[in-house]
Amino acid sequence: MRVEGSRILVTAAGQGMGRASALALAAEGATVIATDINEGALSELVRANGAIDARRLDVTDQAAIDALARDVGRLDGLFNCAGFVHNGTILDCREKDWDFSFDLNVKSMYRMIGAFLPAMLDRCEERGTAAILNMASMASSIKGFPNRFVYGTTKAAVIGLTKAIAADFVRTGLRCNAVCPGTVDTPSLRDRIASAADPVQAEKDFIARQPMGRLADVDDITPMVIYLLSAESRMVTGQAFSVDGGVTI
Ligand code: NAD
Repeated sequence: MRVEGSRILVTAAGQGMGRASALALAAEGATVIATDINEGALSELVRANGAIDARRLDVTDQAAIDALARDVGRLDGLFNCAGFVHNGTILDCREKDWDFSFDLNVKSMYRMIGAFLPAMLDRCEERGTAAILNMASMASSIKGFPNRFVYGTTKAAVIGLTKAIAADFVRTGLRCNAVCPGTVDTPSLRDRIASAADPVQAEKDFIARQPMGRLADVDDITPMVIYLLSAESRMVTGQAFSVDGGVTI
């Protein structure tokens, strides 16, 4: 049980990789605080594992984050998973799209880490380690993708934020890394496929850009999530790990 005894908070745990990570971390012995803006999805998550502590949280709401941080107290791991994919080039990106994407994909991490870091640094003093994991993407990490202008920009910022936190707190035992998945079969990916002009072709195109010839499953990603939040990665900080089916070879 690689994260046994750890208290780990996951954002956007209602569906997709956040949900799968909450379940996988709980199966590996963590006490999981699963948060999402969607209370119905959280109820369904608790039906899947009654030991998960589910809390409604909008990661763009600083007051709610601060209140949750006071309530949660001790914390060993934080997985900032929340994010949104805007589709289009710079010419399709209105200022409100830019602001929304940065608010949800990047500023949320500034808010979450700022609020939870003091309790995590306390844990570093008590047990020598605590870990933050931020959700980036293969889009921007190494490779540029068409129609991912503001999305790729935000995910590049996530990597910069990750390295900055890692550098500032490396002496304390606090580690901070990022994960960069390829195209993962999640509800929001299904929404992107369904909203395309030709959904059948859109799915073929998503699969075609994966050299391994298939979409990633959420549980192709969760082992990396567990690793980066566990003591197994104790010598690893400030890194961005691609789990992308070979896209960025
Ligand atoms: P998803 O997009 O299907 O689900 C996102 C979840 O975020 C939902 O449960 C939603 O309720 C929640 N959410 C939305 N706004 C929120 C807010 N303000 N506060 C809290 N929760 C909120 O899940 P996914 O596709 O696994 O994506 C999760 C993360 O992974 C995102 O950051 C995304 O950019 C990133 N990512 C996805 C892929 C992919 O192909 N699916 C690839 C690389 C990276």
